[in-house]
Amino acid sequence: MIRAKKMRLAGWGNSPCQAADVFRPEKIAEVRSLTTNAQKTLIPRGLGRSYGDAALNENGSVLLETQFDRLLAIDPSTGVLECEGGVSFEDLLQVLLPRGYFPPVTPGTKFVTVGGAIAADVHGKNHHRDGSIANFVEQFELLIADGTVLTCSRTENTDAFWATLGGMGLTGVILSARIKMRKVASAYLSVDYQKAPNLDAALELFARNDKDYEYSVAWIDCLARHGAMGRSVLMRANHAKMEEMSETQHDNLFAPPKKKKRAVPFFLPGFAVSPLSVRLFNHFYYKQPPGWRLADYDSFFYPLDAISNWNRGYGRRGFFQYQAVFPLETARACLLELLEKLTSARSASFLAVLKTMGPASGGMLSFPMPGQTLALDIPNRGTQTVDLLRQLDAIVLRHGGRVYLAKDACMTAESFRAMYPRASEFEKVKASLDPQNRFSSSLSRRLGIGARA
Ligand SMILES: Cc1cc2nc3c(=O)[nH]c(=O)nc-3n(C[C@H](O)[C@H](O)[C@H](O)COP(=O)(O)OP(=O)(O)OC[C@H]3O[C@@H](n4cnc5c(N)ncnc54)[C@H](O)[C@@H]3O)c2cc1C
Repeated sequence: MIRAKKMRLAGWGNSPCQAADVFRPEKIAEVRSLTTNAQKTLIPRGLGRSYGDAALNENGSVLLETQFDRLLAIDPSTGVLECEGGVSFEDLLQVLLPRGYFPPVTPGTKFVTVGGAIAADVHGKNHHRDGSIANFVEQFELLIADGTVLTCSRTENTDAFWATLGGMGLTGVILSARIKMRKVASAYLSVDYQKAPNLDAALELFARNDKDYEYSVAWIDCLARHGAMGRSVLMRANHAKMEEMSETQHDNLFAPPKKKKRAVPFFLPGFAVSPLSVRLFNHFYYKQPPGWRLADYDSFFYPLDAISNWNRGYGRRGFFQYQAVFPLETARACLLELLEKLTSARSASFLAVLKTMGPASGGMLSFPMPGQTLALDIPNRGTQTVDLLRQLDAIVLRHGGRVYLAKDACMTAESFRAMYPRASEFEKVKASLDPQNRFSSSLSRRLGIGARA
């Protein structure tokens, strides 16, 4: 029998940090045996890039899935990849980009697993055009509480399919998946930088021609006030055409020059992220000139991956990532209220990102819905930060929006029910797959998500 290691684990925000029995199974038989003989509740975990407590299970068991990292097959006629659930996007890119394939949807870090991406139904900078990863997942194999492996797709075990996409690991372990990859001509993107002097100008730019770009995102200055509130830099891109690339790039279409990696070697003191340091950063960021530039995929999609352990920059108390989405009709009012609240609380966020979202996927607990989404990093200063986040939740709720479970660590069960109207439907499916609630996480208990017949 595989043995557990007692460990303290955290999500990427380093808050909260909790003890659990951690298992690292290497064979499916071990996953099955851990699941069917479980003495405690368990939750699968990938690379731990969810920010809050989705991949934590305080005093329970955590199953690390990263040993299941084999790419199984790619069908060149359809671009459909078959791989195990613990394969990382980094591995996918390393092997498949030189063959002209790119993930159809990618989050802002490549250090996520396929299982983690499906469980969170991740979205990328192309959600306004392509939707979330659910749209590209053809099927997956799910090991459920009684040890059975279900093949789930749009035509087979459909309830389990739509409960697992966005279901945060609560329906079982995703062992493998078939995902339609995207064919690209190079590893480069042609990026259009535009500056918006305030929120209205930014929303105007998004509304005017977002659909012309495959990828679209804006950095937003959360500390700018009065007439400049919401000033932004929009970065919108398409995969580069051959004529946009230089001769040297033509020779290395899929292998951009490697950049030197930097690291935050230890936890910085908590005051490193202060309104002053953020104001300075924002000042220089906003100064960059507008216009077209060519960028390699790493710089455009994964700028933060260039600094290992950048999360330590927030100090030992960590930080909360807060991401909410709200309908287009209420987006302006909601954003203004959120920005007012942040500035009046003197809460500084280095990373503040605004994106447009297209139609929802059908995942019962999936986050995306049509509208505008704002993501913020907020340093953890204890109960005052939790109070602030709850106030942000109230604003989001009032405007018909919801908070992303993969980033959340503070929401109440009441807010969750109000934000996720399909929660009961999810729980019915969970009850049929896992009647004893074996799959449970710190997040699911905090939010009261369980198996309810
Ligand atoms: C810098 C950064 C940028 C990000 N940008 C985005 C973004 O743009 N869009 C976006 O959508 N997300 C984004 N995220 C969040 C991230 O994509 C998700 O949290 C993703 O789920 C992390 O994958 P993981 O492998 O690290 O999973 P973990 O964090 O380990 O787990 C996340 C959830 O998946 C479940 N899970 C993991 N593996 C399995 C499995 N094999 N079977 C069943 N369930 C499983 C866990 O139980 C947990 O509920 C970002 C995160 C970071 C750190």
